[in-house]
Amino acid sequence: MNSSNTVSILGLGPMGHAMAAAYLDAGYGVTVWNRSAGKDEELLGRGARRAATAAEAVAASPVTVLSLIDVDAMYPSLDGADLTGRVLVNLSSDVPEKARAAAEWAAARGASYLTGGVTVNPSGVGKPDSQIFVSGSEEAYEAHRATLDVLGATDFQGSEPGLAQLHYQLGMTMFWTAFTGFQQAVAIARANGLTAADILPHARATAESLPGFFDWSGALIDADDHSGEDARLAMCAASVEHVLHTASAAGIDTGILAAHAALYRRGIEAGFGADGTTRLVDLLAEPA
Ligand code: NDP
Repeated sequence: MNSSNTVSILGLGPMGHAMAAAYLDAGYGVTVWNRSAGKDEELLGRGARRAATAAEAVAASPVTVLSLIDVDAMYPSLDGADLTGRVLVNLSSDVPEKARAAAEWAAARGASYLTGGVTVNPSGVGKPDSQIFVSGSEEAYEAHRATLDVLGATDFQGSEPGLAQLHYQLGMTMFWTAFTGFQQAVAIARANGLTAADILPHARATAESLPGFFDWSGALIDADDHSGEDARLAMCAASVEHVLHTASAAGIDTGILAAHAALYRRGIEAGFGADGTTRLVDLLAEPA
């Protein structure tokens, strides 16, 4: 096996484990390391090689993929490792500043560094349409793109190392608020004697309507058009109050919905009632 078909994986949580498995499926020679013992048995049974230290794993392959809890976990793991000429691909989720600092840290030790955000759960790893944001060394990306694409469809965002994490966090901003919104709706439903299964078809329809709202409002926001012709902020604020009231009447937690209603009230108080909801972007642009 030539060295371009070898890869090392640091971190064998569910995500790193799925990555190592995807490389084994693709016929790569895979070296694995995990901080604590006992997570590599199945992979070893399938032909992976165990490294006693992260430094040994980095030495074993030109490309090392990191899947740790966060970026900070990289530093103690690679303490003392010779990184000269190595390519580190850190797919641990974190914030853009940490990605930039890590890229500088790696460059100071002679390594090329790519940072990335995986937008799918472990079962999506290895599927060709699974999106993985990547940014950092373009040279390293071009040289090793085929290896990275084993994990999914890598989406290179440019040489600024924080960009992949920025795009990842933008996606997570929408994901977490929407997913928590679903759980909030289920809590209201359950308080009214309905199950999650009862509302799933409606939940799905609501979720499927969102891309249309993104397209419509995104174009208006970029055009700085807040005319509110189709939907005034005042109308939307009334709707948001109805949601808050329905949760309150159900006797459940209203913390998230109260914060949401407060944002819309702030828009009304700022005199934007006759404008579109796109005005909220301006309100959100500074601390409340
Ligand atoms: P886990 O929390 O299950 O695993 C974390 C890994 O990090 C383990 O290998 C753990 O080692 C290691 N680790 C934690 N702290 C340290 C440390 N201080 N030094 C060295 N190693 C450390 O995470 P996942 O596998 O689920 O996820 C890994 C990354 O992938 C995360 O950044 C996550 O945000 C991202 N991701 C995960 C998704 C998912 O659905 N799981 C989806 C999208 C992204 P040990 O076993 O010794 O504790």
